[in-house]
Amino acid sequence: MQFQRLRLSGFKSFVDATELRIEPGITGIVGPNGCGKSNLLEALRWVMGANSAKAMRAGGMDDVIFAGSGGRTSRNHAEVVLTIDNAERRAPAAYNDSPILEVVRRIDRGEGSTYRINGREVRARDVQLLFADASTGSNSPALVRQGQISELIAAKPQNRRMILEEAAGVSGLHSRRHEAELRLRAAETNLARLDDIARELDSALNRLRREARNAERYRRLSGEIRTLQAAVLHARWAEAGEAVRRLTEEAEEAARGVEDTARAAAGASARSARAEAAMVPLREAETVAAAILNKLAIDRDRLEREAEALADEVRRLTAEIARIDADRARETQSAADADAALARLAAEIARLEGEIAAAPSRGPELEAGLRQAEAERNRLQGEVEALAAQVAAEAAQQRAAETRAEEARSRVSRTRRALDQAVREREALGGAEAPEARAA
Ligand code: ATP
Repeated sequence: MQFQRLRLSGFKSFVDATELRIEPGITGIVGPNGCGKSNLLEALRWVMGANSAKAMRAGGMDDVIFAGSGGRTSRNHAEVVLTIDNAERRAPAAYNDSPILEVVRRIDRGEGSTYRINGREVRARDVQLLFADASTGSNSPALVRQGQISELIAAKPQNRRMILEEAAGVSGLHSRRHEAELRLRAAETNLARLDDIARELDSALNRLRREARNAERYRRLSGEIRTLQAAVLHARWAEAGEAVRRLTEEAEEAARGVEDTARAAAGASARSARAEAAMVPLREAETVAAAILNKLAIDRDRLEREAEALADEVRRLTAEIARIDADRARETQSAADADAALARLAAEIARLEGEIAAAPSRGPELEAGLRQAEAERNRLQGEVEALAAQVAAEAAQQRAAETRAEEARSRVSRTRRALDQAVREREALGGAEAPEARAA
């Protein structure tokens, strides 16, 4: 694998685009300490797919981007292009259509690296394999950094074997074998999956065979059903034809009936119009009669209430007269009793006066009895007079009550006559009760 050019832009100290030509034979780089010689070797490793920031002497891969110096501001991306001679067409088949191979790695700050081979975007793994096949790469022992010789001398046998394999050109085969193993495992997994799919397809095939048999049976039965349905439809069609003929006759009959009915309806309409015209005065009369009925119902209620009140008054006065009668009889009896007592006292007084005249020695004793009898007589006389006055007052009350009862009776009979008159008038108006009267 013959490298031709290495072009850097924004990589470490190479802020401006810089091209390093690698001619056949030995190409040397000479410069003072810190001028960037090691940066060039790191650029070569980096473009070949180095993925260790430590190997780049950086904390992170973004540190390979120019970080600024002096008056120059930092960059946000870096790019390294390696041009390889492919005149002998030794590159893998995918890139072998061009006499040169141009491998590009670009890094954008915070977004990682992208790779291209001959302008086509590829994976980091593709770039690493490209160089591994040619027994070189970012970790190739052919690229020796400062202090690495002493490290190789002190290295373990395993690491030395890697160096020897690299020198023998078989390290690419290791990478390929690893890739092939991975693909083999993927293929085995796919085969297992295919077995599963084949089993699923077998069961699906059996199911589809069953469904096909069912479908065939369904198709046969459907044909029979269609034949039967056709027969049924034909029978129905014949029935329907007969029904149409019968219904047509019935419709004609009905049409004739409709004509007769229409004529009758026209006559009825005319009669209805005449009756409607005649109804107008009757409706007015009905309205007036309803108003009168309403008033009569109200009057009737009022008169009935009045008659009931007067009857109550008559009953109350009759009871009062009876009570006055009883009182007067009782008081007359009391007056009679008092008169009898007075007569007895007069006899007693006459007897005592006779005894006083016949026996003057018992005069004081008999005079005391005489005064007591006279006092009793005076009291009874007072009672008799009071009873007589009470009897006279009650007689006056009785007369007044009888007068009021008589008036009430005559008002009751007047009210009843007015009520009868109202009932007769309502019957004369047709016997219909007004809404208010019905509600009452
Ligand atoms: P020596 O002979 O001492 O090994 P050298 O010539 O190999 O030196 P390098 O180590 O390649 O020099 O380069 C170091 C220089 O690169 C330093 O000046 C350092 O400042 C600069 N440098 C490294 N990384 C960056 C960066 N990301 N941005 C800017 N400059 C950088």
